[in-house]
Amino acid sequence: MLARIGGMFRRKGARAAVVVGGLICLAAVAASQAATAGAGVLKVRLGGDLKETRIVIDLDRSASGKVASDGADGQVVLTLGGVDVRGDLQGDGHGLVKSWTLDDTAGGARLKVELSDDAKIKRRFLLPPADGVNFYRYVIDVAATNPPANPDVKLTSAHMTVKAKAVSLKRVVVIDAGHGGKDPGAQGARSQEKDINLAAARALKARLEKSGRYKVVMTRDSDVYVPLEERVQIARRADADLFISLHADSGPTTDMRGASVYTLSDKAASRSAHFVNQDDWFMKASLAGGGVSDILLDLTQRATKNRSAMFAEDLLDRIDDHVQLLRRSHREAGLVVLLAPDVPAVLLEMGFVNNDQDEALLRSAKRRAVFMDSVGDAIDDYFNQQTRLAAR
Ligand SMILES: [Zn+2]
Repeated sequence: MLARIGGMFRRKGARAAVVVGGLICLAAVAASQAATAGAGVLKVRLGGDLKETRIVIDLDRSASGKVASDGADGQVVLTLGGVDVRGDLQGDGHGLVKSWTLDDTAGGARLKVELSDDAKIKRRFLLPPADGVNFYRYVIDVAATNPPANPDVKLTSAHMTVKAKAVSLKRVVVIDAGHGGKDPGAQGARSQEKDINLAAARALKARLEKSGRYKVVMTRDSDVYVPLEERVQIARRADADLFISLHADSGPTTDMRGASVYTLSDKAASRSAHFVNQDDWFMKASLAGGGVSDILLDLTQRATKNRSAMFAEDLLDRIDDHVQLLRRSHREAGLVVLLAPDVPAVLLEMGFVNNDQDEALLRSAKRRAVFMDSVGDAIDDYFNQQTRLAAR
């Protein structure tokens, strides 16, 4: 299974223009720096504890940093030359970092970090893409000047109380139960897709939470209608590490069955339209003409697409033991719901709701749980793999 899927990706190696549309982030890109070559910052991540805190800025390009303040005055200020920021980014603290902002200045992307305690930059370096990581990482380690003897105790400083617990390394997984409310999705003889999706989403949530490794965010947890753009925004706001959208297909004939996995494609046109086009969920994200927007999106999404593809492989490998797969199971599509440019995302079509066998499988709480356990295993695989790559 893995080998075959791997081949599929390589075949798609020749990159075509990205076709996008119906997209919130496009407007933001156009408004902030339509004239520049592209956005540079993909994501900012924090880790570590009150002794030493690591700030990682994922970049789509190489950059060098210039320090304006190394922490001496309670602030770290550093500018990454030639790097653009799409809109102003900011985030909460972690360890020694009380809060941070990243904004676009004439000299490049300016990172401003408010420190929660006396600390200084200990080291900083740039990691080029390597070993499956397809983006640059600018790493800044900030170390406490008076490190606490025991980082598990509560520290009180003059201005605030910091809970010095080991940083939680829980990964954030957003589970998106497709459709809902006024949008029922595909119709089976006995069920509606929206209900199957929600039941599966809950089973997957239970599986992930049981492991203690994940923070799960649902785009909906009841029978409500949530617009596609809002689902994407939920994923971004949650700072998702992975986004998985759950759906069930409906085919033109009732004998078609099997699960399939979609990731974002370079070419929306590569999507096989003959049996899935009933599902208007698959708004084809097409934008007439090429131009700056396409290039911008291409740059920010390339790294994410690679990670999505990695997860798609893990997923197919795991669910293969439990459910039948469509013959050409991994498809690439231009799907609005997959278009959060900085969150690896896949869409899983769990089966055909208008096929008796698939419907029976998806309606059975027990079989659904087994299926979703295998999806959970794939999520474990994916993050184990990511951790190994990051450790190199
Ligand atoms: Zn659907």
